[in-house]
Amino acid sequence: MRKPIVVGNWKMNLDHLEATYCVQKLAWLLRDARFDYDSCEVVVLPPFTSIRSVGVLVDADKLKIGYGAQTVSVTTQGAFTGDVSADMLAALGCKYVIVGHSERRKYHPEDDATLVDQVRAILAADMQPILCVGESYDERKKGIELEYAVGQVNDITRDLSEDEASRMLVAYEPVWAIGTGMVATSRTAQDAAHAIRRHFADAFSQAVAERVRILYGGSVTSKNASQLMSEAHDMDGFLVGGASLDPEEFDKIVRLT
Ligand code: 13P
Repeated sequence: MRKPIVVGNWKMNLDHLEATYCVQKLAWLLRDARFDYDSCEVVVLPPFTSIRSVGVLVDADKLKIGYGAQTVSVTTQGAFTGDVSADMLAALGCKYVIVGHSERRKYHPEDDATLVDQVRAILAADMQPILCVGESYDERKKGIELEYAVGQVNDITRDLSEDEASRMLVAYEPVWAIGTGMVATSRTAQDAAHAIRRHFADAFSQAVAERVRILYGGSVTSKNASQLMSEAHDMDGFLVGGASLDPEEFDKIVRLT
């Protein structure tokens, strides 16, 4: 049985003081609502500079909120100015790392070979990759959105072992829905999640397909979260951007998932 998960991708927002406030407030709201953490995993992905502060707070107060990072280096150590390794993130208590977010694909030279190496580095450090895939408006207009998203999953995961593949999370984030307020319909999100899960069954095994968690991302708010989950047989939660920066809004999304 897969555990639902809601992940807040803070992008380049919230310095360490704001991050501490945000997690504290979220934990307080969830406690106040007697939230059952066994029903849904709650994760935040701060910028690198705020991870330590979040980790210290989580440890000190034994919070059940997980955390991770938004990208990672493909190398383990050495003369790579500005890079941060998977082992460094794991040492801070990170559990998840995003791979291939469309903003990284756009603003940084992260090609498929880099993404494959990032996935390997994350798995080797005992963390879990959250691979982001999804079509732009052009592919959607051509009606090839499912092939496109599944193709992206295949490009990055095809050489993994069954055990490695089963530790993947995939976020279907259509590029046209990210930060635009244009949210996918529940059917679109479910169809994509279903196609991605079927791909894991075909490429690996049914057992792998049943373990991989698939999320939807793109303009998720407390106003559309329950509608998005209404047909979700294959969707296991959300990757939330803007709405995760407001603890009250994020708390509502978590409780609606
Ligand atoms: P928004 O929720 O702001 O659309 O961002 C989605 C996203 O990119 C999450 O990774």
